[in-house]
Amino acid sequence: MNTARTKPEISLKLKIWEYFLFFTAVVFLLLWFFQIVFLENFYEGMKITDVKRAAIDIIYAYGKEENYSNMLTETTLKNDMCIEVSDKYNRTLYSKDALGKTCLIHGPNSRKSEFIETLKASGKTAVYYKEYNSTISSNTLILVSYIGSPSNPNGYLIINTPLVPIGSTASIIKRQLITITFFLIVIGITIAFFMSRRISEPITRITKSAEQLVAGHYDIKFEGQGYLEIQQLASTLTYASQEISRVDSMQKDLIANVSHDIRTPLTMLKAYAEMIRDISGNNPKKRNEHLDIIIEETDRLALLVNDILDLSKLEAGKQNLNYSEFSITELMKDIIARYDGISKKSGYNIHFTSDSDRTVKCDIIKIQQVIYNLINNAINYTGEDKAVYVRQINKPKSIRIEVSDTGPGITQEDINLIFDKYYRSENHKREVVGTGLGLSIVKAILKKHSYDFGISSVIGQGSTFWFEITDIVRTKEKRYTKKEK
Ligand code: ADP
Repeated sequence: MNTARTKPEISLKLKIWEYFLFFTAVVFLLLWFFQIVFLENFYEGMKITDVKRAAIDIIYAYGKEENYSNMLTETTLKNDMCIEVSDKYNRTLYSKDALGKTCLIHGPNSRKSEFIETLKASGKTAVYYKEYNSTISSNTLILVSYIGSPSNPNGYLIINTPLVPIGSTASIIKRQLITITFFLIVIGITIAFFMSRRISEPITRITKSAEQLVAGHYDIKFEGQGYLEIQQLASTLTYASQEISRVDSMQKDLIANVSHDIRTPLTMLKAYAEMIRDISGNNPKKRNEHLDIIIEETDRLALLVNDILDLSKLEAGKQNLNYSEFSITELMKDIIARYDGISKKSGYNIHFTSDSDRTVKCDIIKIQQVIYNLINNAINYTGEDKAVYVRQINKPKSIRIEVSDTGPGITQEDINLIFDKYYRSENHKREVVGTGLGLSIVKAILKKHSYDFGISSVIGQGSTFWFEITDIVRTKEKRYTKKEK
């Protein structure tokens, strides 16, 4: 089948995969970026805090701690630094070193005096600053402090430590990150794979069912377990397929009914035409009788075709309502008067009662058709007494028109169906002129006007068909537009 489906570039499965991988990539980029950019800053801040804390401890313990030398050694090793504690004459008392050659305060190139000068020049109790050390190609930190008061110091403390992660801390973190990245990518791909499968599976299933539907299997049930949206889609599609099935069978019925209804008069036409040709051609009385039947059948055919046309136009929304103001009682009387002929001929009796006249505003031709169809049905189905009752009842906001008969009545089950096209209850009389479309036309017209309508019926006693015109013109003047013939 050549449907106008546009071919999507990428399947849902792949799309979900794509998004998931993109998300994973972003997470990793962020992780790596923060690690690399901030690790050093973070390390630096930590180092400065450590050095300051060590300095406070060393100054505090000076002259109090028995194992002062040991304490200094421990601090030096723990914090990767070199320390110099000197007396007030700047003579070295303790010199501890965990850095070796890179230490700036020991050895032949010691810059001890320079740092102490910097401290003195600053006028502060302690100073610390960063300096680039080309030997280790990174920044190093120098802290210089008085021991005791700056005006009369007991001695000096100098601490020097590099500001890059020593040892393998940073590289361990990086290596871990690589491992984590690898595992997460594998996990991500696996999750994305299963997730996309879980999401796309029900859709694929529904598509398969839809293909079955296209092939004409209307009883197909759409299954969409998995999640809410797909469940909703599945039930909507199941409902749609039921509706398609209903419409399809109605259409088949319609075609069968129309063909049947057309074939019957056609058979008659042919039979009587042949009869005139072969038998009654020269017998004017018989011939006219046969011609009358031909005319009657032709009328019936025309009626059917007109009904089908009317209904299809109404249902396609192609017929617009032609609103005009007219007197409802006058219209009713006018319609009923046209049944005089049939009343006299066949003994039918149409009783009309009405409340005071009212002017209404609606499509007179169409409302007329509604009343005709209802009276025709009532005549066709009324009981032995051949009585039909038509009433106009004025209500505060509407005018109710009722058409009652004394016929067999309609079961509740049938009431729900007889407004459908071509529906005929079991006990309908075929000799009665009717196309099975009358009530569908009534329904279509009243719906178009947005008027309420309905049936009340008692089996064995008769039925009442009613509708209510709500477009009432509030004026004393009453006009009546006579229907053109
Ligand atoms: P038609 O009368 O041409 O068959 P309608 O659409 O007018 O088609 O009516 C549909 C069916 O409703 C009829 O075949 C009949 O079974 C039922 N029906 C309509 N009017 C009456 C009525 N007044 N009393 C009993 N049954 C009715």
